[in-house]
Amino acid sequence: MGFHYDDQNIFAKILRGEIPNNTVYESDHALAFRDLYPQAPTHVLVIPKGPYVSMDHFTQDASEAEIVGFMRAIGEVCKLEGVSDAGFRAISNAGADGVQEVPHLHVHILGGRPLGRMLAPET
Ligand code: AMP
Repeated sequence: MGFHYDDQNIFAKILRGEIPNNTVYESDHALAFRDLYPQAPTHVLVIPKGPYVSMDHFTQDASEAEIVGFMRAIGEVCKLEGVSDAGFRAISNAGADGVQEVPHLHVHILGGRPLGRMLAPET
């Protein structure tokens, strides 16, 4: 399957500085900012700066420097947000079944309260 990246997605616009964001952390390869509609006291989105749609796209096509930079950014965000002791959840939705809304890879870092089971029961 080929991956198609739409450079008009909202996170691409954030990366180009066309719309504002509440930055938590930035490095050469990653940007982390607060989710506009937080679902927990900590709700930060970590995105790579490169044009990758999803985790599978990124881990197939990104360079080793990009992958290392992105994963390190997740660690930095956990440290900055102070969620390591109590715990947190890292989620990356992809595609239709994953109910991905924004087609630029992002990892949600959620914490600051007990988060319940990983998935809601099937409805
Ligand atoms: P997903 O369903 O995994 O694609 O999640 C997309 C997330 O992006 C949602 O949690 C939204 O609340 C969040 N979001 C959408 N637009 C913005 C924005 N401009 N700034 C920050 N977060 C956003």
